[in-house]
Amino acid sequence: MAKLCVCCDAQREMTAFVNETHQVVFRDLTRDVDGLSGFRCGACGEIEYDQASADRYAEAGDALIFEARMAVGIELRRIRKKLRINQVEASALTGGGHNAFSRYETGKVIPTPAVVNLFRLLDRHPEAIKELRRA
Ligand SMILES: [Zn+2]
Repeated sequence: MAKLCVCCDAQREMTAFVNETHQVVFRDLTRDVDGLSGFRCGACGEIEYDQASADRYAEAGDALIFEARMAVGIELRRIRKKLRINQVEASALTGGGHNAFSRYETGKVIPTPAVVNLFRLLDRHPEAIKELRRA
């Protein structure tokens, strides 16, 4: 029986594919997932994985998000220690509640780009922390 695309109006028959390698992307991280099978729409490019492939693709995505959180957490902790401020002081600088930095550093929460950008700036110009403390 023909499998029709549910994503576009073309009502095109989807074509089966087997054993392909697709890339999962999250921010600046990527991971290849191989051995994927399913169907592809020739009109819009929509992919519908078979169940096992869908599970593996989703797991790779979850792992990537976890990896990104941990990488950001490790980076923020390193910069915070370089600045010689504790987690409560770092949270006060960036907002988000007094436990925010603990959650960032342990990978429980991904900080906003503004927090990451501020700390990366402070990493390059650590003396600027004095000006922020005066505010
Ligand atoms: Zn389609």
